[in-house]
Amino acid sequence: MTVYAKVLSIAVVASLLGGCAASSSVEYSSSENSKMAENEEISQESSGPPAGDVTESESEDVAGSEGAVEDIDYTTGSPWLCSFLDSNITDDTQKPDLKDDFFLSCNLEYLQGIQYPEGYSIYGTTEAVAIQTLEDIADLFTGNTNAESHDAQLALNLYSLYMDWDSRNAVGVTPLKEMVDVVEAIDSIDAMSDYLSGTPLEDQLYKLYSFNIEADPDDSSSGIMVIGPPKLFLDDSDEYKELTSLGQVKKEAKSALVSRIMCKMGYTEEMAREKIENCLAFETKLSSQMISETGKRAPDYIDRVNNHYTLDELRRAQGSVPVLGSIKTAAGYPEADYYILQEPDWLTDLDSLYTDENLSEIKDYLIVRGTLSKAGLLDRECYDWSRECNNQINGSTGDIPVEVVASASVTDDLKWPVARLYCETYLSQDDKDRISDLIDEIVDEYRGILEEADFLTDTTKGKAIEKLNSITKGVLWPDDWSKYECSGLDIASASDGGKLWEAESAVSRYDIDQKIKDYLKPIDKDRWEFPPTEFNCGYDPSKNQMMILGAFARGDIYNSEMSDEVLYSRLGVVIGHEISHAFDSIGSQFDKDGNKKEWWTDEDRKVFEERNEKLEAYLNSITLWEGQENNGKIQTGEVCADMGGVKCMLRLASKKKDFDYDEFYRSFANLWASKASLNYVYYYLTDEHPMSYLRVNVPLQQYDEFLDFYGIKEGDGMYLSPESRVTIW
Ligand SMILES: [Zn+2]
Repeated sequence: MTVYAKVLSIAVVASLLGGCAASSSVEYSSSENSKMAENEEISQESSGPPAGDVTESESEDVAGSEGAVEDIDYTTGSPWLCSFLDSNITDDTQKPDLKDDFFLSCNLEYLQGIQYPEGYSIYGTTEAVAIQTLEDIADLFTGNTNAESHDAQLALNLYSLYMDWDSRNAVGVTPLKEMVDVVEAIDSIDAMSDYLSGTPLEDQLYKLYSFNIEADPDDSSSGIMVIGPPKLFLDDSDEYKELTSLGQVKKEAKSALVSRIMCKMGYTEEMAREKIENCLAFETKLSSQMISETGKRAPDYIDRVNNHYTLDELRRAQGSVPVLGSIKTAAGYPEADYYILQEPDWLTDLDSLYTDENLSEIKDYLIVRGTLSKAGLLDRECYDWSRECNNQINGSTGDIPVEVVASASVTDDLKWPVARLYCETYLSQDDKDRISDLIDEIVDEYRGILEEADFLTDTTKGKAIEKLNSITKGVLWPDDWSKYECSGLDIASASDGGKLWEAESAVSRYDIDQKIKDYLKPIDKDRWEFPPTEFNCGYDPSKNQMMILGAFARGDIYNSEMSDEVLYSRLGVVIGHEISHAFDSIGSQFDKDGNKKEWWTDEDRKVFEERNEKLEAYLNSITLWEGQENNGKIQTGEVCADMGGVKCMLRLASKKKDFDYDEFYRSFANLWASKASLNYVYYYLTDEHPMSYLRVNVPLQQYDEFLDFYGIKEGDGMYLSPESRVTIW
């Protein structure tokens, strides 16, 4: 998916299953060998999840900083209690007046009653739907699924391999050990180059760089090869400058997992420790100029990484690093006229480190990262260690059923075959039609919001409306399944002697070959990037397309029995949210055709930026707990979208007779009700989505309709004076 856009923009469930994986954020999964290298672990989910028990971490560091967070009173948030954090909600928690903290007043009993399901450490209204999706998918594999089609059979066969523990246990760590031995045998930097450019990508242990085809921001109808840094062991380059307590937990949990598997491969504990240290030392040097996770979420990120290089320029930039060799020979892509090099400084650093003197660090980097990435494909013991690592990182306890984890892995490997089975089993055409009509209704209402935007000149307003009119929609599932068929891919089932490791390699190769086929051809903008099994919704600026994915529009988020009040406050607000992304601090940089091109007048852009700065300042003024500011800079897009969603639905509500506003507001508050472990809370510090209570209280307090309905006045916690309000639209 496009690297440049926060495409999956609801992202309430960052990673229910993940943890130990060197996480591959959906928005940033720019590696070709994603199946074998990034599909690591069992986790099908991606965007780097939280860490383990943050308060208990301590001691040695990666880059010379401290980890421990002690003696923090997490109940000191302002203007509201951080009610997302589970330890802040106890049986003794007093219910606030709804005029002071609407979110908590509406949700206290619900939050008090939440028990985490085994293996999870975040739960609430949306998470309940997400977990149900995972279980529904598992049922496809454990029930009597009709597997007449080739693709359905593929999915069932792969599932049988994941669950074939006899065979997996018999093979043990051997397939990994064989790959590791190849790297161990590399005796010079030239031999390393031969390995990286000569070994088929799907057979490589790990990577030094990632590359993937994306829509060219300057011409979104064309694909372009985008080259960037690989994922880091600690997920975020900032961790190598100053290790956070969360980073410390990740470091310990992942190191322990790698060490155990390495010992199983015949290394001593001492050797394993040394290799992990070497890996981290290499990453510390490599990451010094890499863009951090928060940097990737800032509105200027697109400009920072949109660096076009000709083939010759890229050849010079790579120096002795065989980036082009990997793309051409190991993966099989033809040469192109242009490439995007996202982070030139990183490649310069890599080139200077790519020497014989650093060979052993580079090898240890590949071995450690490769071992971590493949932990989920090994035997049962490694699987259990991997889940243990996940629990440490997520702060969860207990086991997610292995059938759920295995089926999630299959969903990750064979997205479209599983998506089709899922949609045909659980979704209905009536819902698709109804939601499609609702989207049309909301888009029409949005036109009114743009028309009434008196801070804009008519020129920009006209262009904005043109862009709105051009938004396409993806609803629940794609109309034409034939584009997503996996013809030509074959996987033998366990009973036919298939092996998981071989199947993974075949899926990887197949994916790469499909991309090669489409490379240098015009992009099919009707083709969905994300399968309907993804629990999310999104707006893709490169296509000017909004998506309501099938798995999201279920249960308490959407069902056909809902009253208008509940429908508007849940899926309705989400639809308005996605439309708003076309006009937020990131989406506004793209025109109606999906190209990164200025379509605002200078004066309008200036006013728009001032509004965003005011929003950012307000979000920064919120403290999550004493000493911990909320990070407004990375949240402006999401909060703009949340506010736009609420505003749009309030406008629609005003046209309904006898609309029950109390039900609407309370139902909206309950949409985002969830609680999470401290680890998840720390994870959210670098996420562009504000925490649950802020997603409710901040949008609502902007509107007179809400304040007047409940008689909220100056002095109340929910009150915001008209001049302090921060709506963008
Ligand atoms: Zn969003």
